[in-house]
Amino acid sequence: MIRENLMMILEEIETAAKKSGRSLCDISLMAVSKLHPYEEILEAYHCGQRLFGENKVQEVQAKFPSLRPEGMDLHLIGHLQTNKVKKIVGLVDGIDSVDSLKLATKISEEALVLGKAMPILLEFNTSGEENKSGFTSTEELFRVLDVIEGLKGVSLQGLMTIGPLGKNDDTIRKAFRQLKEIQILCRYRYPSLCFETLSMGMSSDFALAIEEGSTVVRVGTRLFGQRDYTK
Ligand SMILES: *Cc1c(COP(=O)(O)O)cnc(C)c1O
Repeated sequence: MIRENLMMILEEIETAAKKSGRSLCDISLMAVSKLHPYEEILEAYHCGQRLFGENKVQEVQAKFPSLRPEGMDLHLIGHLQTNKVKKIVGLVDGIDSVDSLKLATKISEEALVLGKAMPILLEFNTSGEENKSGFTSTEELFRVLDVIEGLKGVSLQGLMTIGPLGKNDDTIRKAFRQLKEIQILCRYRYPSLCFETLSMGMSSDFALAIEEGSTVVRVGTRLFGQRDYTK
């Protein structure tokens, strides 16, 4: 099933890219494997999938072997508590859900202990939903960026957002457009920092996200099937 799902998703990505005159090379698919077993991750890997996303530190620790297959790229995409940073920095290739200065600073500290700079994305809350993480104003974001310029242990790659769930296309599109506008603003204000990555779009809205400029779509359900939250 995973192979067929993957093919369908890739075709839809291609269609959305064509529709918006974008190059496929600028768009990556992240396979969101949370609550799915490692065997399914390997299955996707053997189809050629390399980028994976997980949202919990404990699940990453429990599920992945310390030696992962060649080229497998694993990112944390869920809310991260400062007290778990030490555990995760050695286990992932990127943290895509940085939502506070305290967290960015802590990641930098712990990455430097390992002698590396952790690739990160800053999460922005474009949906206005209060239960979601992420920065809620550009002022807040700029305050963090002012400091990030000097943090040696993090390597900023761009921005991430979760669109409003269960809303109409127009509302979702507006949220994605907002992140694109913030990217343009950030590039202008911080020419020395990198804002290349725009991680937006999930199973239900990745085509819209691509039309609005997404460079990474995070797809779980459409690839691996429904998640069993009772486990
Ligand atoms: C679970 C999750 C996804 C994938 O959601 P689907 O709707 O299953 O594609 C994407 N991004 C984040 C941050 C997630 O937690």
